[in-house]
Amino acid sequence: MNDVLPDAGALWSAVESAAQAVFDAYGYRRIRLPVMERTELFSRSIGETTDIVQKEMYTFTDRSGDSVTLRPEATASVVRAGLSHGLFHNRQQKLWCSGPMFRHERPQKARYRQFHQIDVEAIGFAGPEVDAEIIVMSARIWERLGLSSPRLELNSLGTPACRAGYREALQDYFSAAGDVLDADSLERLRRNPLRILDSKDPRLGELIAGAPVLSGYLDDDSAAHFKRLTELLDDAGVEYRINPRLVRGLDYYTRTVFEWVTDRLGAQGAVCSGGRYDGLVAQLGGRDTPAIGWALGLERVVELMEEEGCALPQRPPHAYLVIAGDEARRRGLGIAEALREQVPGVRITMDCAGGSFRSQMKRADRSGALLGLILGDDELANNALSIKPLREDSPQMQCDLEKAVTELLRVRDNSP
Ligand code: ATP
Ligand code: MG
Repeated sequence: MNDVLPDAGALWSAVESAAQAVFDAYGYRRIRLPVMERTELFSRSIGETTDIVQKEMYTFTDRSGDSVTLRPEATASVVRAGLSHGLFHNRQQKLWCSGPMFRHERPQKARYRQFHQIDVEAIGFAGPEVDAEIIVMSARIWERLGLSSPRLELNSLGTPACRAGYREALQDYFSAAGDVLDADSLERLRRNPLRILDSKDPRLGELIAGAPVLSGYLDDDSAAHFKRLTELLDDAGVEYRINPRLVRGLDYYTRTVFEWVTDRLGAQGAVCSGGRYDGLVAQLGGRDTPAIGWALGLERVVELMEEEGCALPQRPPHAYLVIAGDEARRRGLGIAEALREQVPGVRITMDCAGGSFRSQMKRADRSGALLGLILGDDELANNALSIKPLREDSPQMQCDLEKAVTELLRVRDNSP
């Protein structure tokens, strides 16, 4: 579990604002959810044989004796919230949310026990247009961030009915290789052989690569849905690769599944993953409701931005207010307020640490501010401020507040 320090904050904010801008542009509304739910919600939705439920959940008994779990993902909570507030009753919903998720995984680069996701969920839409829409939205986020490495992989998992035939084929295939499988995989072979395809065990890589693929078992409707999605992505100019062995780590997926992957983060290549979950709303007690969503891993996207060297505008204060003398200290706050009010968007840091003029000027310099604003007895007597350019070699000047506003407008408009 990481502390995210202010130095990394600019990248985090960049991802968050890019996502927020895209959601606004596509009419997705924000929903905010608790980080803890009844354990049962996750075991029922994510699936008893998944890694998440079997070994990764932070589950404990609370003081009332209820089993609760820190959410390992958001979709189940979105559906739970939508059902308990009647959001899906004769209505469709386009929603997004974000926040921390918790999984007791082995910590390594880009894999943490508390990590953050941005999630999109479109609930109540059956057609492939919404699949295309949410995928295009993710592509737009990469564009806004200047990320070029994520590549889109697509697959269709069909319906549970057509998966039954595939399941048998997998059972036959993996049973023949029984001696290579570890205890976990043998258990999955019995209960849910598709899970073996999602194994991260390198010893199984070759075996998995030779496994039968699901496309041969797809029902006609799922195949048509998938084909239409690929056409819509072609029209939108979003490139993809069909990966017939792409399955996801959660059991509720049906039909479309996808993952944006990069080869620049080592083994943790997935930066955003999602798919359809047409059965989940009904499974959690609602009516039959088609739905699709994705989740983006914030830490991974931030690390990828660092890796790709995405340039971010620095945002130091425009001005740093240096204050000399008791009377100036009393008036400084009000003057800074007046300047902020008259120059919307301006960033002014007021020195609150005190000390000598020299040490305040040092802090002004270290803050990266473009201007030093100086308020001392002399300035107070003249109803003025002194302005000292900190990044260019021009002289300090004393001016009235009106002129200070003009100067601040100038630096505001000439910096990011
Ligand atoms: P992986 O295959 O890497 O384990 P996953 O299939 O478990 O990922 P999802 O449950 O689909 O991932 O979560 C969506 C996204 O959240 C992933 O694409 C990834 O970017 C991010 N993510 C998942 N687990 C972690 C983690 N432990 N630490 C950081 N990010 C994570
Ligand atoms: Mg995982």
